[in-house]
Amino acid sequence: MKGHIPADKIEEVKGRTDIVHLISEYITLKKTGRNFLGLCPFHKEKTPSFTVSDDKQIFYCFGCGQGGNAITFLMKINNISYPEAVRHLARKTGVVIPETVMSREEKERASISEQLNRINQMAAGYFSKNLLSPAGKGAREYLSNRGIQDTALSDNFRLGFALDGWRHLRGFFESQGVPLKLAEQAGLIAKTDKGDFYDRFRGRLIFPIEDVSGHVIAFGGRILGDGEPKYLNSPESPVYVKGRNLYGLAKTREAIREKGYAILVEGYFDMVTLFNAGVTNVIATLGTALTKDQVKLIRRYTGDVVVIFDPDEGGKKGMARSLELFLAGNVQAKVVVLPDNYDPDRYVRTYGRKSLEEIIAHAPTMVDYYIENIIGKKGGAIEETSDAVHRAVSFIANIDDAIKRNLFIKRVAEKLGIDQELLKTEVRHALTPSNYQGTEAPGHTDTKADKVELSLIHIMLEYHDKIPAILETGILDYFMSEELRALGKVLHESHDRGGGNRDTDGLDTFLIINRLDNESLRERLLKLVIDESPYNEKVIDQLIADTIKQIKRKWYKEKDRTLRTKLVKAEEANDWDQCIYLLREREKERLLRE
Ligand code: ZN
Repeated sequence: MKGHIPADKIEEVKGRTDIVHLISEYITLKKTGRNFLGLCPFHKEKTPSFTVSDDKQIFYCFGCGQGGNAITFLMKINNISYPEAVRHLARKTGVVIPETVMSREEKERASISEQLNRINQMAAGYFSKNLLSPAGKGAREYLSNRGIQDTALSDNFRLGFALDGWRHLRGFFESQGVPLKLAEQAGLIAKTDKGDFYDRFRGRLIFPIEDVSGHVIAFGGRILGDGEPKYLNSPESPVYVKGRNLYGLAKTREAIREKGYAILVEGYFDMVTLFNAGVTNVIATLGTALTKDQVKLIRRYTGDVVVIFDPDEGGKKGMARSLELFLAGNVQAKVVVLPDNYDPDRYVRTYGRKSLEEIIAHAPTMVDYYIENIIGKKGGAIEETSDAVHRAVSFIANIDDAIKRNLFIKRVAEKLGIDQELLKTEVRHALTPSNYQGTEAPGHTDTKADKVELSLIHIMLEYHDKIPAILETGILDYFMSEELRALGKVLHESHDRGGGNRDTDGLDTFLIINRLDNESLRERLLKLVIDESPYNEKVIDQLIADTIKQIKRKWYKEKDRTLRTKLVKAEEANDWDQCIYLLREREKERLLRE
């Protein structure tokens, strides 16, 4: 049983790890200037934009925005957890990590997950044996009718069969000494009101659902005949949370990485038949609507997805949501709509892999498809256009990123033949306060206001020894970005703590940057930090002084602006006491500024 890793051991591992060496084991790096450059292992590219900094021990890809330190690199490339990555590096660098004792709670949680994994594994074996038994004949015939004959394939996906009856699996578990309460927790056994245990899956073809590491965590069951429900899935359990997994990913993640994109389908059968036909970079959403977590999961392997999409009404609705998720998750999505209402399973069995690949190669982007087919067509009847505008507005207002939102506004305005400004105004009305901030530029958008604050943070990350002098000026109080102010404080504390790291001052650039919750801010800072330092060593003190001055000027300006607005309001309200107070405040500010 693996327990908690002591912090000093993590520091030791980090101190002994060289990120350039480590990454060189996976990709070829070439030295260019101060950094190393190579082809990104996380997205498909022809010109290298994957940058590794030796002195800062971080990496950043200008193509896909992935970045981190040695530990994050290992986690991403091998799909392992943080402790696993640390242990891996410890073995490489000869650091001995003592096996500490876990707390009782940790132990219980870990052991329940382990036990559930084991029970699921046993059940998968049991189901798959049933499929090969005489009782599984009907299920085998059903599979073969759908083009799945290859036992190697059913082995590959561990397809199985749940016998038709109430106590088969239950009996199997009892014979193996598995506590039924635990099997109930795994979702395999259910309980009547009277407390009687019975099999959840009966007379169904079974698809074991695996997590990315290949542990069986849940099951999907397809009825063979006409009954309802057609599909039955395991309920959530300590090892299975809906919407966090993608069916087939454990098998296909390597192919996805190699081909540079993933094909996303809806159901088990589509996934299995496409794989069977040699389309190996395919995954399925398990019949539910796509979730944010699933997009994140995809993003770990590729930034490009082809969604094979069912164009019925439900599908159209789902597409708006999926598109939002892909846009937010920085995933480029294309859409394939198969002709004549074919589903992927039937299509590939009828026309073959080549034909499907041909369609995929010419698939439009989801944005194009959406604008073209769902938002509507130009020059229709007035009611139709106004309907389309309405749909577009509510969709655009849901996009978080201001830049993407504006791009969309432009495209939709062109498409519908309406005025861009008009559409912008409509969207602005529909925006929620949280995403409104970034749209227009009323005085200060966060991009503008924090630029100089960001450069001061950047300077501190470049010149650690300047940190105390900079922060002694109290400049953090003048930061307008709360996030960057908090980051400045972190820098201060980390610098004070000092010691223990390769730079001997205890600053882990990536960990510090990673404290930023705001994703775009985090990416901007990473980008700044990994680029060649734009600062001239000789004039750095002057530069710092200038930057500090600029930040203060900006702060006073903003303060003055607020005072002025208040003053106008007080004048309008004939509140002269308030006016005098505000005028004095302004005077004080002015004196302070000099
Ligand atoms: Zn990349």
